[in-house]
Amino acid sequence: MKIDITDIIERDGAVKRFKMNVDKLDNHKTGGGMSIVNLLGDIHIEGEIYSNEGILNVTARIFGQLEAKCYRCLKKIVEPFSVDMDETFEHANSSESLDSYKYSGRILDITQAVIDSIYLNIPDRILCEPECKGLCPECGSNLNEKRCGCRKQSDENKGFSALRDLFKE
Ligand SMILES: [Zn+2]
Ligand SMILES: [Zn+2]
Repeated sequence: MKIDITDIIERDGAVKRFKMNVDKLDNHKTGGGMSIVNLLGDIHIEGEIYSNEGILNVTARIFGQLEAKCYRCLKKIVEPFSVDMDETFEHANSSESLDSYKYSGRILDITQAVIDSIYLNIPDRILCEPECKGLCPECGSNLNEKRCGCRKQSDENKGFSALRDLFKE
């Protein structure tokens, strides 16, 4: 994800618009351990770079498709996503701020910023549908697909009612 910034780098106030398609971002792991989300296919990015005093501000919208497992029932979900990115890049020789991305030369590489923006903005508890009933804690059945009857059975549990009777006395 490299952009030639020759035409804006030494021009304060200059803006460069860009559009790109990227593949091979799938199965990328985030820094924070195992990811539950996979990116599928191409990622499409549209945005602009604003140059001012050697600092580059990149605002963009990132589109793609993701594959995840429902947080409650573990069903596989494939759905489109779009996230916004707003990041600052400073020259590698500058030491003004430590929390911005760096660039050097006349090429701006936004790969890491794009990956970070995606993983920071995608919710980590994705549901197959807002009303997902999840899995039965007793037998593991998917409660969206069938009623297993476990809950009913435990309500009628004789051992429990016997114990309850004991405490009444
Ligand atoms: Zn679900
Ligand atoms: Zn059950």
